[in-house]
Amino acid sequence: MTTVQEDRDTRDLRSIAEQAGRDLEDASALEILQWAVDTFGGKFCVTSSMEDAVVAHLASRARPARGPVDVVFLDTGYHFPETIGTRDAVEAVMDVNVITLTPRQTVAEQDAEYGPALHDRDPDLCCALRKVKPLEEGLTSYDAWATGLRRDESPTRANTPVVGWDEKRRKVKISPIARWTQDDVDAYVAEHGVLTNPLLTDGYASVGCAPCTRRVLEGEDARAGRWAGRSKTECGLHG
Ligand code: SF4
Repeated sequence: MTTVQEDRDTRDLRSIAEQAGRDLEDASALEILQWAVDTFGGKFCVTSSMEDAVVAHLASRARPARGPVDVVFLDTGYHFPETIGTRDAVEAVMDVNVITLTPRQTVAEQDAEYGPALHDRDPDLCCALRKVKPLEEGLTSYDAWATGLRRDESPTRANTPVVGWDEKRRKVKISPIARWTQDDVDAYVAEHGVLTNPLLTDGYASVGCAPCTRRVLEGEDARAGRWAGRSKTECGLHG
């Protein structure tokens, strides 16, 4: 049950999100992140799948007064070694504070309770246990979080606001590169020498957990390699 104060705080945050969504639609990604760190300070974090470090890099340039921005990474226990390596490299070289969240159960503990390869039999439950729940718990101390969602990635992301209200978690949700194209991302990476996951140059256009990610074929959209052959297109973090 929420308190009166929590309800009031939530109303304030929601109105901040709605106003900023209108005001910042045409702002640059850096301007949006500067607004986020100025508005929320230590109550703001960036989430990263470690596909690339573009949003983390932008956030490091926004320079909050309180110090480096928190960059939250979900370690599901099923990542490619290249993804963990990218996380470690970001932590080593970038001026951000990397925070790694883990599910309550290890993969072995999950296998013991639910049986092996839950990702093949019930990927929605696997994602709920290994992604959605840990993120929900990890975000409790923040008022606002940023993602790397882009409108051009898939039809399900075509209406992503640059700043919106995350009703599920009652947080301000910021997508500073929502309007960017893949070419914009590539240009930013090249200009600033931003770290990227090596799998992106090995046929993977989008990088998730190893059992649920394959290389994309010529002409497929960037997310076609995620949960390929299954009726699932999103992990539940953004739904
Ligand atoms: Fe499990 Fe696959 Fe979801 Fe990763 S992407 S949490 S392995 S179902």
